Amino acid sequence: MKRSVTILGATGSIGLNTLDVIRRHPDRFGVHALTASTSVDSMAGLCREFRPLYAVMADQASADALSDQLSDLPAIQVLSGEEGLCGVASDPESDTVMAAIVGAAGLLPTLAAVRAGKRVLLANKEALVMSGQLFMDAVAQAGAELLPIDSEHNAIFQCMPPERIRDTRGAGITRILLTASGGPFRTFSAESLRDVLPAEACSHPNWTMGQKISVDSATLMNKGLELIEACWLFNTTPDAIEVHVHPESIIHSMVEYADGSVLAQLGSPDMRTPIANGLAWPERIDAGVAPLDLFQIGSFHFERPDLERFPCLRLAAEAFRSGGTAPAVLNAANEEAVSAFLDGKLCFADIAVIIEQTLARVATVNADSFDTIFEKDAEARRVARERMSLINRNRDH
Ligand code: NAD
Ligand code: MG
Repeated sequence: MKRSVTILGATGSIGLNTLDVIRRHPDRFGVHALTASTSVDSMAGLCREFRPLYAVMADQASADALSDQLSDLPAIQVLSGEEGLCGVASDPESDTVMAAIVGAAGLLPTLAAVRAGKRVLLANKEALVMSGQLFMDAVAQAGAELLPIDSEHNAIFQCMPPERIRDTRGAGITRILLTASGGPFRTFSAESLRDVLPAEACSHPNWTMGQKISVDSATLMNKGLELIEACWLFNTTPDAIEVHVHPESIIHSMVEYADGSVLAQLGSPDMRTPIANGLAWPERIDAGVAPLDLFQIGSFHFERPDLERFPCLRLAAEAFRSGGTAPAVLNAANEEAVSAFLDGKLCFADIAVIIEQTLARVATVNADSFDTIFEKDAEARRVARERMSLINRNRDH
């Protein structure tokens, strides 16, 4: 059966890698819809190559500009906004949705795909971190097929019996060993970390990624978000997950069993591997990834994460333990702080400070509905912005 794929966030790092895998298998995959925020030129090029039925832009002005560029291709319907995004994500004509919008903006369209019972390839970890149990309940209720694309979670998924991934407690699994590269500042002192620049934070040693996740990797918030993501995907707790800093980024994570076996998934650090795994699962297809040369890599190293220099990982574990809306607050404060850092309006070390202050000021309540999640997301963003203006005012004096 040929899969009909919709890509949410087609112009991003994950979106383009997904299209690269699809390009190699025209017999297996067709592109149903592509979506992007405002990058009209990039989207126009993708539409010309892949000829989707729908192209969705975040706002009407970008949609109008795209329509102009595609006036010779009237078969492509150009839509805009949340309605357009959720519409293509749940369209019965497509069976597979790559959820690769960055941040909270991806939650509603990803949820629309889940509720429509699609195969959902989850890259947008923030959606799951924000809404946790509600998201997993929606997956179960709709019978959606949720496959992890985050390389660590895809590795864990590959190291588990597929029928037991939501029921790991009965499967003889004792621990998940979640690997982390340590980011570009792994060896920096606390002092030299204070004033690193956005460009330094965005040049990751092993992976080329979008800006937000690159900063998250540098603060280790990415590992914190991934810890929460793993708890929900594999129905476990932070106590059963141990983060291992592994600077080579070749082992993408491991699963330990009661008999002492530890299963690992290895590969070159290239997102096309987990993407191809999710697209073709349970089959295996060529992803265009260079074969792994272990002789050239030579050796693997492991160290414990330093929670003093990288407090974001601790904050994420605490937010998961607090439960309710705390992870949504953590995520929103992080998005605001990272965006201020990228704009040169917040120093690197203050990202964690803002998140901690926001978590302390926004009351945690039961995450009883998606409305509650979005209310807390908005409140956390307000509080984080207030705290940032205070920090900056104190600096100026
Ligand atoms: P990116 O910034 O490169 O791309 C983001 C995509 O989302 C773009 O297509 C952009 O147009 C779209 N987008 C952004 N804001 C939007 C909005 N408000 N409305 C609609 N569309 C919007 O990001 P990325 O690196 O591709 O990451 C995407 C997601 O995948 C993130 O959640 C990230 O954590 C996750 N992820 C990425 C990698 C990686 O290697 N890049 C690895 C694991 C997980
Ligand atoms: Mg990852």
